[in-house]
Order: sequence, then structure tokens, then C-alpha cells
Amino acid sequence: MSDSWRYRNPVEVITPSRGLQELPDHLDGCNILLVTTPGFKRRGLVKKIKDIIGERLGATFCGVEPNPSLEGLEKVCEEFRGQDIDSLLALGGGSVLDTGKALSLLLKTRPEEFDLAAHLRGEAELPELEPLELIAVPTTHGTGSEVTPFATIWSRQEKKKYSLAAERLYPRCAFLDPQLTLTLPAKISTATGLDALSQGLEALWNNNASPLSDLFAAEAVRLAFDNLRVVVEEPENLEARSRMQRAALCSGLAISQPRTALSHSLSYPLTARFGIPHGLACGITLPAIWDFVREAHSDRAREIAGRVGFFKPDDVKEGLITLFEALDVKQLLSCHLDDFKKLLEPLGEMYTPERAGNSIRPVDREDIERIMSTTVELFSGDSS
Ligand code: NAD
Repeated sequence: MSDSWRYRNPVEVITPSRGLQELPDHLDGCNILLVTTPGFKRRGLVKKIKDIIGERLGATFCGVEPNPSLEGLEKVCEEFRGQDIDSLLALGGGSVLDTGKALSLLLKTRPEEFDLAAHLRGEAELPELEPLELIAVPTTHGTGSEVTPFATIWSRQEKKKYSLAAERLYPRCAFLDPQLTLTLPAKISTATGLDALSQGLEALWNNNASPLSDLFAAEAVRLAFDNLRVVVEEPENLEARSRMQRAALCSGLAISQPRTALSHSLSYPLTARFGIPHGLACGITLPAIWDFVREAHSDRAREIAGRVGFFKPDDVKEGLITLFEALDVKQLLSCHLDDFKKLLEPLGEMYTPERAGNSIRPVDREDIERIMSTTVELFSGDSS
């Protein structure tokens, strides 16, 4: 860890005592666009929010797709560009929050002023403007996107994941109501919880870690180890949901500076090629990455083990494998792969320098092959 570091996070975090009823107290805008998914409309949440906010809710978009894409964003812009909108209320998982971040820029520009696709390819600058205010209301407990200045945007055409990143993209406020996570099905609880766990660990085995990111990361990992199994086995346990929401929040606060590392780099082609949900795709390689990291950084591994509540590095790996068994990760993975060896197919696409380059242990193609082979063995053997 370098002696010189900075940490900044400008997001106001609110845990309301009266749930969604408190939302209007934290909204500044007069013409608010609610951005969400069809599920929240179906479950009656959109109507409830309309009733709570009243006339200030100017428009609603309920069509956010999982893993937002350039193509999908274009359609939303066609509908809402030019409308009188001064604030965005994003209610949903990371896909909705990231859509909100992209829209906060796109809806303030005309197509000829800002080409998002060109920007993501590194061919155009971000426009010099203040984005629309964004209020982030997370409904999964994984991404921590409510406190990060990044948005993941996919190009369906290129089957490629891009990261939109700028200090201006921090939401103004993160509104955390654990009631909203009670409807999460077990497999989404698992995948998103594994995302929080991965982000915590990725912030710890990271070149850019700082004393503050370490604090948030360790808290995220401890909370995820203690509560992820509980929310899957007892989906209505509000206390555990609240603690998982805090795990996700802390994981976002942790990665907002060092950013993610190797498990994220390995995960992208697994999501693009096999449709493995983001958190699951990041989570499955954690035991193998842990072995890889501690081989070269035994002191840091001992420190990390202690920080996340284990006696020794071996226990961290054991803890991960035990958690995977309890969550039936092998079964969830087999919904996307008829043969775990397929995890080795995209080896050549697994090195994203902006992510893998953050790993405290430098990684090359052979290392990636070893990590992925160990992961295949883990899930092919009886112990997983
Ligand atoms: P998601 O937002 O894609 O949601 C997954 C599914 O769960 C969707 O079908 C959604 O409709 C449903 N869902 C959400 N909340 C629900 C609820 N309360 N009840 C029932 N169903 C619900 O999943 P996610 O894991 O939260 O987000 C993944 C996306 O976030 C990926 O694109 C990933 O790359 C991105 N991400 C962004 C950041 C960041 O900092 N910006 C960090 C990590 C991941």
C-alpha cells in the first residue's frame, strides 16, 4: 500500500426510519423522472411512489434491462430527451442505478453534442456540464453503485462491457430502505451478495488500497460472510437484509477509489458469453485468486484474513468454499454451463488492463489459465 493516498466520497447516505414515505424529504427536483424495471411496476411500487411524491413526479420509465446497453439507453433518450426533467430517481439494482448515471448526462445533451459510444471507446471527451441530479434507491444488495462514480454499460453489438467513469457521476444521495430488498429471489440475493463480497476482497488485494478503503472493504466482507447465507435461507429477515445492504454500501465505498481488480476482469466474458449474472461471475474465482495472491503476498494475506474475521489465510479459502456450498453456487452456475470446462473458453478475453492491473500480484495469461483451471476443478469436484 502506498503511503500517499486520497479518499473522497460526496454521496449523502440516508437510512430512513419511515421507509419510502420519507423519500420526498430528500428530493430537491420539481420534475422528477422515475427510472426502474417492469418488476417494480408489477409489484405496485411505482404506483406507491407516485402516491408518495405526487405532482413532482413528472415522468416514469419502467423499462430498464439487466446489464444496461448503449442500444437500450438510446431508446430511453429518444423518449425523454427534450422533456422538462430536473432530477432522476433510480429505483432498482445496479442496472437501474447505472442507467440513471448514464441518463444524468445523456438527457442534458443533444445527440450531436455527446456520443456516449465514442466516449466509451476513448474517442470523445465527456461534455463539460453538470449532470442531472440523481437519487439512487438500491433494491439489490450487491453493487454499491449508489456510492460510486461509475456505470457499467454494455455494447450488445460488440458483446463488450464498458465503464463510464467520472467524478460528476456520483449520485447526490443514496436512499437505503432494506424493505425494498425483501422481494429478491434467492438466486438474485446470492448473486448480488457475492458481488458485495467480491468488491470487498478486490479492494483489499488491490494496488490502490488505502487505510480508508481497507476499513470499508473489511466491513463489507465481514458483513457478507455473516449475512448472505441468512438472507437466502430467511428471505424476510429484515435485519439481515439491512446488514447485506450495508455490506453492499461498504463495498461501493471501498471500490470507489481503488476500483475493482482481477475477479472483475475474469468475469466480464463469462457474463457476455454465458449470461452468468455479474455477482456470480465475479464470486466464483475468489478462492483461486486468494491462493494466487497469498502465494506472493503472505503478510498482506495474513493481514486481510485478520481484518475480515478469520485466524489465518487458509480459513478465508475454507470460508469461501463453505459459503459457496451453503448458497449452492455450483447449482446456480450449472444453470448457465452444461460443462464447467467452458469457463476456460474465453481465456483470451479475460485480461482487462484497467481491472486486472489493479491486482497486488501482477498477472499474465498463464496465471489466468491457472486461476481458471483451479476454479473449474473446484466446481467439478465434490467439494464445491
Ligand atoms: P440488476 O440490477 O441487473 O438486477 C438483477 C435482477 O433483479 C433484475 O431482473 C431486476 O429486475 C431484479 N431485481 C432488482 N431488485 C429486485 C427486488 N428488490 N425484488 C425482485 N427483483 C429485483 O442486478 P445487480 O447485481 O444489482 O446489478 C448488476 C449490474 O450492476 C451489472 O451491469 C454490473 O456490471 C453493474 N455494477 C455496477 C457497479 C457500479 O459501481 N456502478 C458495481 C458493480 C456492478
